[in-house]
Amino acid sequence: MTATQEPATELHDQPYDYRRAELVEPDWRRFPGWRDVTEAEWRDAQWQRVHCVRNLRQLRAVLGDLVEDRFFDDLAADQRDMATMSMLLPPQMLNTMAPHAGTDPQKVTDAFYADPIRRYMLPVRSDRDPVWPSHPHSERDSLHEAEMWVTEGLTHRYPTKVLAELLSTCPQYCGHCTRMDLVGNSTEQVDKHKLTLKPVDRQDAMIDYLRRTPGVRDVVVSGGDVANVPWHQLEAFLMRLLDIETVRDIRLATKALAGLPQHWLQPKVVEGLARVAGTARRRGVNLAIHTHVNHVQSVTPLVAEAARTALEVGVRDVRNQGVLMRGVNATPEALLDLCFALQGEANILPYYFYLCDMIPNAEHWRLAVWEAQELQHAIMGYLPGYATPRIVCDVPYVGKRWVHQLAEYDREKGISYWTKNYRTGIEHDDPDALRRRYPYYDPISTLPAAGRRWWSDHGA
Ligand code: SF4
Repeated sequence: MTATQEPATELHDQPYDYRRAELVEPDWRRFPGWRDVTEAEWRDAQWQRVHCVRNLRQLRAVLGDLVEDRFFDDLAADQRDMATMSMLLPPQMLNTMAPHAGTDPQKVTDAFYADPIRRYMLPVRSDRDPVWPSHPHSERDSLHEAEMWVTEGLTHRYPTKVLAELLSTCPQYCGHCTRMDLVGNSTEQVDKHKLTLKPVDRQDAMIDYLRRTPGVRDVVVSGGDVANVPWHQLEAFLMRLLDIETVRDIRLATKALAGLPQHWLQPKVVEGLARVAGTARRRGVNLAIHTHVNHVQSVTPLVAEAARTALEVGVRDVRNQGVLMRGVNATPEALLDLCFALQGEANILPYYFYLCDMIPNAEHWRLAVWEAQELQHAIMGYLPGYATPRIVCDVPYVGKRWVHQLAEYDREKGISYWTKNYRTGIEHDDPDALRRRYPYYDPISTLPAAGRRWWSDHGA
């Protein structure tokens, strides 16, 4: 621009104001426990895993006096009374919390309380809904995935797709995990179910089912998080999948791409991924990574590097499936900031946002369907169409439905009704499966007074 030129015209008064923002890795040395951690250590996946924060003592060791006791007491109360997931935070994730809080303990503590990543990775007692922490219809396995197992860990819910849960652990545990029934260590409140088969036998049974079921063309390889499967085992399983001619799509589910990007940058993992991607390409199979990022603070240069590396070695696409949560990302600005960072800076396609599922003690995170509809409306038209995420409700016994697809909605009681166009794996003999209406429930705190009264009278 020359001195005489006016700046290009800006569009003013839009509800959302897009500005390109550079990705930043927050300085981990601001935390007393990591003052001497070097860049090389930080980039080392093994260092990250060894230094994961698993309990209050370890969290205090990292945060030192920066965070006040009131926060730790609140966290301890939550672990005792409410938590459905145990604590597991890679340093990478903890470092994205309260990145600009300074050094005044009162301000840092307030920033921790308000922080969107903290709110779902490190829930405290005072976060929870004081009246209805759980919806009366919440369930441990709210999507009934185990009910639809055709062999241990293999959920056949949709006609052409399966979900293969290879293991029940992750490098990080999210407070709102929909598989809280199975994933992670038991908590004070939740005695977790266990996978019983040996991994090799479980994988054999999955491969055998897929060979016998040519109508299944799409396999989501998940857990837990595939980043916790030893690489040689994961590669062997993926190569066996690629040997099945009827399998045409493979998606690797890993939140670790954002929570522990160092894992996906290890040379042995990158080289292995290149071999798998090369085989997929030769066989015409779509290999993609699906990750789980909920807030723009998680999208750091290391995350972008991990995503780009996967694309460079031949993975066809890296996509994000976030979860919509109050206090985390439930505003148009938060969603669009995240989507622009994913799409524009990290080459990760914003694909879905799910409503948080109806698991116990999740009401403070959950949104009503009408709130999700408003958010979907608010984010239309800013991103490229193919990168505009769909907000979906995973309706029990139905599956994912776009939030505008409901058939009927009782706003007073907060009950939406949904239909479906296929039978899940357990309904082949059910003549009414395609005629029935399936309910989904809004959080009671979002209802008008009459609706809240109705649940008080009938909810128990
Ligand atoms: S990474 Fe996924 S499976 Fe693991 S705890 Fe988080 S939501 Fe659950």
